[in-house]
Amino acid sequence: MNKKKLDKLRGFMKYPRSSNQYREVNTRQKDWKEIYNHKGVKAGLKVQAARCMECGVPFCQSDHGCPLSNIIPKWNDLVFKNNWKEALNQLLQTNNFPEFTGRVCPAPCEGACVLGINAPAVTIKNIECAIIDHAFEKGWIKPEPPVTRTGKTVAIVGSGPSGLAAAAQLNKAGHTVTVFERNDRVGGLMRYGIPTMKLGKDVVQRRVDLMEQEGIEFQCNVEVGKNMSAEDLMNKYDSVLLCLGATHPRDLPIPGRNLNGIHYAMSFLETWQKKQEGNDIEYAKMLAKDKDVVIIGGGDTGCDCIATSLRHGAKSITSFEILPPPPPSRAPNNPWPTWPKVFKMDYGHEEVELKFGRDPRIFNIKSSNFVDDGNGNVCGINTALVEWVKDDAGRWNMKDVEGSEKLIKCDMVMLAMGFLGPEKKIADELAAKLDARGNFQTPKNKYATSVPRLYAAGDCRRGQSLVVWAITEGRQAARQIDFDLMGHSSLAGPGGIVYQPED
Ligand SMILES: Cc1cc2nc3c(=O)[nH]c(=O)nc-3n(C[C@H](O)[C@H](O)[C@H](O)COP(=O)(O)OP(=O)(O)OC[C@H]3O[C@@H](n4cnc5c(N)ncnc54)[C@H](O)[C@@H]3O)c2cc1C
Ligand code: SF4
Repeated sequence: MNKKKLDKLRGFMKYPRSSNQYREVNTRQKDWKEIYNHKGVKAGLKVQAARCMECGVPFCQSDHGCPLSNIIPKWNDLVFKNNWKEALNQLLQTNNFPEFTGRVCPAPCEGACVLGINAPAVTIKNIECAIIDHAFEKGWIKPEPPVTRTGKTVAIVGSGPSGLAAAAQLNKAGHTVTVFERNDRVGGLMRYGIPTMKLGKDVVQRRVDLMEQEGIEFQCNVEVGKNMSAEDLMNKYDSVLLCLGATHPRDLPIPGRNLNGIHYAMSFLETWQKKQEGNDIEYAKMLAKDKDVVIIGGGDTGCDCIATSLRHGAKSITSFEILPPPPPSRAPNNPWPTWPKVFKMDYGHEEVELKFGRDPRIFNIKSSNFVDDGNGNVCGINTALVEWVKDDAGRWNMKDVEGSEKLIKCDMVMLAMGFLGPEKKIADELAAKLDARGNFQTPKNKYATSVPRLYAAGDCRRGQSLVVWAITEGRQAARQIDFDLMGHSSLAGPGGIVYQPED
């Protein structure tokens, strides 16, 4: 396409959406490299940026759209005009780590894009990722240590995206920041949860290195509440921010749960990612090679287990989901600009379909008990199909479908049914209040816990969520801490706007 003739005024009518997001299924399923087709995405990006209407009210960055309030129409236009440097400046105003969100975010911005009312949304996520990847390629991203230090100290417990975002912001404000992480490497679930295919660990480490060069100290292998008391931390630092994540997994306490071969999804993913990082780790039990694998739980974590098992060389892969499949298009109670809950083939589903000739998912299925092979190992799951019926009060109830009982053979099971909130050791030690869901309690849109000088952000405050929300929470918590320490704050709020937390 002749670049000069690109029509931005009517781009949304003239040019179709082309996300060209992933590498060929057949190629990518054979390796552990990122699934994205970075080069292909960048090639047609100007045309895609021309589809943005620069709406007067850009819903992409509104409440239903980007939690970071990324200034999306602005950088779409700058990419269209080939002004990548200024697009980067705009992007970094609101997001410390676009290289993470540009890869793993499900993109609520695209769900809320105005174009989505009657046409496919603008490819916002691709544009974001290309801006930051281009900036790294050009050498524009350099460490930027603060010019002066305030003399105030902040400890952050947990190095996932919320802890990292808070650390970056507090360091920028001149405070001396130490991040404590119980694992052996920095990154939280971005390091030892989300697989390499979705987020390369070199991408995570590149950012951690930059943050170290900016003056942030990381102390790994320190579990606060175990080999360092939370009380000590409170005594040593001016403020303490908890970014612990929601790591307590939901169990499936049905008969046979104690059989060998049944694992939490996170143990499986973490073991394998540690192995890939070169750790000397016992992994034989967590290898899916030549096994019939069943993954219970049909969310993102389940899909990551599917894709990991496939790359191990599993004999078969089946995924159970107790709920019915979502509809093919938005239901009447799920209108634009809310997040579209529609049927999707995620990367792992596509890969299994190509290799085994069928979508690995079974919907509306309940596991009744795990079956013993006689030696204490799991060899199958007794299942039944269910249907969902509304009672008189409008509540959905599950009912077994008569005659649908079936034994599904397997020798490895992963439980991927979500998480029940943060672990409670630190809350108990400091007597911090938890909310009804077991997360750290803070006032609405605030990050201070019931204990003075103790703050919480990310999944341990809002419950299991997304990287983009963790970054948002880390940034907002940093702003509140800065304000409480200094009496004012110049750190940016949502949309890059600087105002005080009281406003
Ligand atoms: C398998 C999987 C795949 C996912 N895929 C996606 C995706 O594609 N896109 C997306 O947006 N989101 C995804 N998520 C969700 C996302 O990863 C989380 O919402 C996000 O990482 C939460 O960030 P956080 O900083 O709050 O906590 P976490 O990332 O969980 O980090 C918490 C950190 O705190 C550390 N910690 C806990 N207790 C202590 C202690 N006492 N002392 C020291 N350190 C401690 C933990 O070791 C951990 O490193 C996925 C989650 C999982 C499990
Ligand atoms: S809502 Fe969509 S079309 Fe409108 S400004 Fe945002 S990205 Fe562009």
